[in-house]
Amino acid sequence: MKKKNEKVKLERVYEKAIKIFGKQLKITRVILIFSALLLYFIALYYETKNTTLIFLGIIPFAALILSIILLQKKILYFGEYSFECSNAGDVYLTKLKGNCPICKGELKIANSEYIQCQKNKEHKFFLYEN
Ligand SMILES: [Zn+2]
Repeated sequence: MKKKNEKVKLERVYEKAIKIFGKQLKITRVILIFSALLLYFIALYYETKNTTLIFLGIIPFAALILSIILLQKKILYFGEYSFECSNAGDVYLTKLKGNCPICKGELKIANSEYIQCQKNKEHKFFLYEN
């Protein structure tokens, strides 16, 4: 495997501010909602001892973890799209695109650590954080 030592900057080809009821979604609000939801599940579990609640509680728990990652890393990738968080805490849905500096193949985000060339899987790069 080739060393992932180069940093590549991706272009933002799509950007949409996420709005709920016409209001810009704030990351702090998302975290608060999921925290409250998780606490609600925990309280309900203590009351009812219903084990199904543990499984259901995984959803707000996972969402909360992802929101915290988004707040810290400012970006969260999933498939072709990503969630981005501005310094003001506004949440955006974006699509990043770029070309391989070696062979000009299309670049795709493989995971949160690196991006991979679609023509040659050996071409891997770190994502330039901007
Ligand atoms: Zn390439």
